Amino acid sequence: MQHDRSQHLHGQALNYIPGGVNSPVRAFKGVGGNPLFFKGGDGAWLIDADDNRYVDYVGAWGPLILGHRHERIIAALEQQLSRGLAYGASTEAELAMARTVCQLIPAIDQLRLVTSGTEATMSAIRLARGFTGRDLVVKFEGCYHGHVDGLLVKAGSGALTLGEPDSLGVPQAYTALTHVLPYNDPQAVADCFAQHGADIACVIVEPVAGNMNCVLPEPGFLEALRERCSHHGSVLIFDEVMSGFRVALGGAQSVYGVTPDLTTLGKVIGGGLPVGAFGGRRDIMNCIAPQGAVYQAGTLSGSPLAVAAGLAMLEEVGKAGFYDDLAQKTSQLLAGLKERAQAHGVPFTTNQCGGMFGCFFSEEETVSRFPQVMACDSGAFKRYFHVMLDNGVYLAPSAFEAGFVSSAHGVTEIQHTLDAADKAFAAVAKN
Ligand SMILES: *Cc1c(COP(=O)(O)O)cnc(C)c1O
Repeated sequence: MQHDRSQHLHGQALNYIPGGVNSPVRAFKGVGGNPLFFKGGDGAWLIDADDNRYVDYVGAWGPLILGHRHERIIAALEQQLSRGLAYGASTEAELAMARTVCQLIPAIDQLRLVTSGTEATMSAIRLARGFTGRDLVVKFEGCYHGHVDGLLVKAGSGALTLGEPDSLGVPQAYTALTHVLPYNDPQAVADCFAQHGADIACVIVEPVAGNMNCVLPEPGFLEALRERCSHHGSVLIFDEVMSGFRVALGGAQSVYGVTPDLTTLGKVIGGGLPVGAFGGRRDIMNCIAPQGAVYQAGTLSGSPLAVAAGLAMLEEVGKAGFYDDLAQKTSQLLAGLKERAQAHGVPFTTNQCGGMFGCFFSEEETVSRFPQVMACDSGAFKRYFHVMLDNGVYLAPSAFEAGFVSSAHGVTEIQHTLDAADKAFAAVAKN
């Protein structure tokens, strides 16, 4: 497979863009080699600058649950384009979006749109602090909530890949207000609340963790968060920027039956355009300006283009059977991968929630804790990644990312992936 054009563009980009990328997760630091450049997408396929085609399991890091260039999204965008790009004032489509989300996620009484997931979590935390009059934030190891200053402590994803769990430029005074606890450890939560309960403004968690690969909540974990937060008057925030409209129509909160006070959304809700959102209990949302004294604003918030794409997206994923189909395809893919790993004697296990999955080069039967994720064989992942790439399968270039299946992935794409995986596991077994 030739990557001449990509290599050329990457060399040029290094001069003008830090590290040649506009988000560190796009670099190939975790797998070696240089990132590819892409010029097109077509359903489940990505097309790189050298015209190579890949089955895409990154899906723009989550949003593309319908695949690339879905006709409904494109049509909605074209319709809005003919009416203008932005008005800096309210639109009927925004109202439709808020109403739809409130109907699909019963824990959300009111919704505010922002422009990214980071903005959503940052605003939700400010709101929780304003509402409670408290300062402390509790987060979990391996959970990523965007690049918010106070949350860049033991964050997952890009931060893990770079081996820099913390960032320079974040004042210690900020992170001193953040308590980091182990994921799936209700006792640690109980202990933390016993000591600091009266000062904890909020607990923020990925109810399905998708930034330390894909880790599911163990029974009782989310329930323990709900119970402790209610007991101490702290706000429970589910960061569903990744899991919202990805694992089920009602998000992870509908799968696990635990109701948060605030929910943050992003990725799928924007249909591929830059969008985030946060919403929840009416009494809490009432604290936001202009009604309340917690300030939050955005020039392009509720962008008509993004809202048009998002509304079309919500209509499509709201169709009967959408998530059942997606989950079934994802299960087929994972069963096929496990079969091939086993045939080559490669220790390998997977996690899945709806159309979101994780693959682990691990001897463990199930991976549910952060240290287990960190203990996976990163050398095996690197070899696997590159053989998959050479055989036309594009995976996230890091062992700490979740994978995504779209409705555009069909039998052909899954078979193509499994054929590539057969070669990739063979290469892993040889070393
Ligand atoms: C991607 C992500 C974010 C950040 O969203 P951006 O749009 O990249 O700012 C926050 N939380 C979770 C769980 C995410 O997966």
